[in-house]
Amino acid sequence: MLRRYATARVVQGRLNKGEDLIEGLQGVMKEHNITAGVVTGIGAVSSARIACLNQQTKQYEEKVFQEALEVVSLRGNVSLKDGSVFAHLHVALSRADFSVVGGHLLSGNPVYAFEFEILCLEGEPFTRYFDEETGLFLWKD
Ligand code: ZN
Repeated sequence: MLRRYATARVVQGRLNKGEDLIEGLQGVMKEHNITAGVVTGIGAVSSARIACLNQQTKQYEEKVFQEALEVVSLRGNVSLKDGSVFAHLHVALSRADFSVVGGHLLSGNPVYAFEFEILCLEGEPFTRYFDEETGLFLWKD
């Protein structure tokens, strides 16, 4: 499954301290009518809530880190799910001892500082549908 896009524009910006990371980014996407795109960013969060998919149970297992963390790398994409803009984002986070944890980004990550770029793609966006085999909402043609 493959689609070709023309890059329409890049939106670059900063989220405010205290904003939720994923909700802040999805707010920018809605405000700028971005339905297909690539997301990158770096910064810091006051605490973190991420998840890892258990492939046996097909359930996400969540973990909360009650500590200040650097967002070494946030990467993800934008598509549609249930008719709304949906950001699928993963993060690598570094701790005070410089070790790194990471996973699938959930809501519940208060921004300390965050800078991002969204590469907006022009064309028909992918839409997510529930996939029985994986238990995930995957892109479908
Ligand atoms: Zn994920």
